[in-house]
Amino acid sequence: MRMKWLVLFVVLVAGVLQAASIDKLEKALKSLRTQTPNVERLGALFAARVHAPNAEVQAMVLQACAAGLLYIGQQDTYHKMVRPLMPSVEDFEASLMVDCKRCTGAGQLESPCETCKGSGLCVNRKCSNGVTTSEGFDGKREDRRCVICSGTGQCTACKGAGKLTRKCTTCGGSGKTLSASTALAQCRAGVEKALAGCEAAREL
Ligand SMILES: [Zn+2]
Ligand SMILES: [Zn+2]
Ligand SMILES: [Zn+2]
Repeated sequence: MRMKWLVLFVVLVAGVLQAASIDKLEKALKSLRTQTPNVERLGALFAARVHAPNAEVQAMVLQACAAGLLYIGQQDTYHKMVRPLMPSVEDFEASLMVDCKRCTGAGQLESPCETCKGSGLCVNRKCSNGVTTSEGFDGKREDRRCVICSGTGQCTACKGAGKLTRKCTTCGGSGKTLSASTALAQCRAGVEKALAGCEAAREL
């Protein structure tokens, strides 16, 4: 009989303690519901993740922290503190990326070749298909290999392409950049899902 009461007592105390710690987490989550993410609020949420009632809610909390940090440009903090703890982090990161606006996702930028004005041809005006023709002293025409293009007939600056390509510095050549608006939306979505998870855990 005594044992039963003891068990009931332990269950009750555990329940009260759990509810109190969920409070801390919910408070941190609610601060991000309407207010803009900043280091302070995200830090408080990150610390409160240990009070998550289950692994699912904790994953949502981490996602909200991660997206929030990326939104405010705290890449270093994200990589050091949050990323190592996240499940399926590759999918999460991919979901935040959009095609780079500057290079439209190509990762490189093209510009017309200044040297040949985009024609791709050898700049030597006497050169035709890599051959220069001149009239000799005796009136004979003499064909010579063009020394400018070494007989290729092509512009040496662009190797005949007529355009120059260079790596896009905005995306570092990957063709993708982080979408701040998507990051903010993911942060807010994580907060809402985590709050719903807390609510569900209370009702159990
Ligand atoms: Zn030439
Ligand atoms: Zn050229
Ligand atoms: Zn780019």
